[in-house]
Amino acid sequence: MESPPGLDPGHRWRCGACGNLTRFDVESTERVRRFWHLDLSGGGTVDAEERLEVSVGPVTCRWCGAADAIEVVSAPGSMAPSTASGDGVTSGDGVTSGDGVASADGVTSSDGAATAR
Ligand SMILES: [Zn+2]
Repeated sequence: MESPPGLDPGHRWRCGACGNLTRFDVESTERVRRFWHLDLSGGGTVDAEERLEVSVGPVTCRWCGAADAIEVVSAPGSMAPSTASGDGVTSGDGVTSGDGVASADGVTSSDGAATAR
């Protein structure tokens, strides 16, 4: 499972207008680095993907169309996101540069990661 851009793991959106929890239009602009694993024919697969920059635009409810009533609430039964720092993004390849970049963009402001110093 994957978290949409702008939403921290363990959280979910909720439409305060109609109660929708599961259907949203999410606008985002993302700059992504992908590790392409090619074969000699030039085709290949993506082995790793790193979101360098994520900018989230409006989130709109698919049910009632409200854009101002979307709230971020914690998801029931989710794992405690205490291990959020090293979320296995850099697993296979020996790339050392970009750790923690993907989640640290302050897009949702609900996690105290930026003020932890
Ligand atoms: Zn709604």
